[in-house]
Amino acid sequence: MMISVIVPCFNEEEAIPLFYEAMEKVRLQMQETFEYIFINDGSKDGTLRVLRELSAQDQQVHYLSFSRNFGKEAALYAGLKEASGELVTVMDVDLQDPPEMLMDMKAMLDADPDLDCVGTRRVSRDGEPPIRSFFAKLFYRIMNKISQVEVVDGARDFRLMRRPMVDGILEVSEYNRFSKGIFAWVGFRTEYLPYENVERVAGQTSWSFWSLLSYSIEGIINFSDMPLNIASYTGFFTFILSLLMMIFVVIKTLVFGDPTIGWPSTICIILFLGGLQLMTIGILGKYLSKVFMETKKRPVYLVKEKSKK
Ligand code: UDP
Ligand code: MG
Repeated sequence: MMISVIVPCFNEEEAIPLFYEAMEKVRLQMQETFEYIFINDGSKDGTLRVLRELSAQDQQVHYLSFSRNFGKEAALYAGLKEASGELVTVMDVDLQDPPEMLMDMKAMLDADPDLDCVGTRRVSRDGEPPIRSFFAKLFYRIMNKISQVEVVDGARDFRLMRRPMVDGILEVSEYNRFSKGIFAWVGFRTEYLPYENVERVAGQTSWSFWSLLSYSIEGIINFSDMPLNIASYTGFFTFILSLLMMIFVVIKTLVFGDPTIGWPSTICIILFLGGLQLMTIGILGKYLSKVFMETKKRPVYLVKEKSKK
């Protein structure tokens, strides 16, 4: 059975040869046929050159090169589209997804024909700044509370899937792609293999704290309408509260007259309501921007160069 190995690469010239070497070892041990699909996601370094050389050397290696950086989500989608294997795996090139695990994953799929996918889950976050781990945990908690899909804490994109699940993911052709959510949304039976965090072999991560924060917000906005509900509920309760307040003020003025005090409370109320309105409009804007991008129907990625099959 052929296994397609999808590998998004962004500035990874150093990591690619190491990854390839490690994977070939695993392939020989597994005695399987592999099809490598590397996606050069608009790298600024020699990634494309390394990929050209590798694919000239080895029949199994294919690559796609994007016209610019479209992000890992787009690269994954492109890779899944290209893949022709009955089994498909998605891996990071920095060896943070241990290649040896593929053997166990394959064995689990072989043992249970009802299982559609074996995923992986990091049980430790050693070597990661504590503040990053804290927010990551918080994100999974919020995400699972307020969205319809269940995203397992620490679940990686690294997984081995059967063809029907891959076809399912390809059906989800939306522009705003949050893969962790899409993997969960398509359903199918997935089991997770736990493993300890591994540090990157070469190069450096392209994620900063802020890019991760904005990635989490994307995730929530794309898979939950709870923020919109919160905005409307808050609006509704503030409205009821203001109504009661108005009645109170009118009665108070009728009974006690109108000495011109109460400036501080007026300012407080104006500021409070102003803030609330801005926040609500902000949330609306987030969703509107998603609709905007979605209706444009832009392609998720553009390919500039492709290896010959
Ligand atoms: N990646 C990509 N496009 C991007 C950013 C990252 O294709 O815009 C790839 C990167 O080359 C790597 C994988 O996605 O193979 C994971 O990236 P990284 O190691 O930077 O993320 P981390 O492991 O720190 O979450
Ligand atoms: Mg990494």
